[in-house]
Amino acid sequence: MTNCVFCKIIAKEIPAQIVHEDEFCIGFNDIHPKAPVHLLLVPKKHIPTLSDIDDHEEQLVGHMIKIAKEIAHKEKCEGYRLVFNVNEKGGQEVFHLHMHLMGWK
Ligand code: AMP
Ligand code: ZN
Repeated sequence: MTNCVFCKIIAKEIPAQIVHEDEFCIGFNDIHPKAPVHLLLVPKKHIPTLSDIDDHEEQLVGHMIKIAKEIAHKEKCEGYRLVFNVNEKGGQEVFHLHMHLMGWK
């Protein structure tokens, strides 16, 4: 999507500290971290919100959770939180689906 900041990061048109990339998703550090480890797991497909996930895309969310778990272990987080903000009232600011991984060592 032309004017989407996360699509631009995926296309490498704007820089980000990328910590994971595979066929389905990308993980990069949040620009305004709210925890010692704070990154975003983002599907490569432009899907605006969690509410827009179709039934056949449920496994994509499962994949994102699996990758987040692996990164949290690699970063030696003793505890972590996975958060989806959904829609403006849910605190969502960027309308390209993403999951926050916030971790504490
Ligand atoms: P949300 O409120 O769930 O939509 O969260 C959007 C998150 O994206 C915020 O935590 C921002 O700090 C983060 N963010 C926005 N632009 C960038 C960027 N260019 N690189 C990394 N993180 C970003
Ligand atoms: Zn996008």
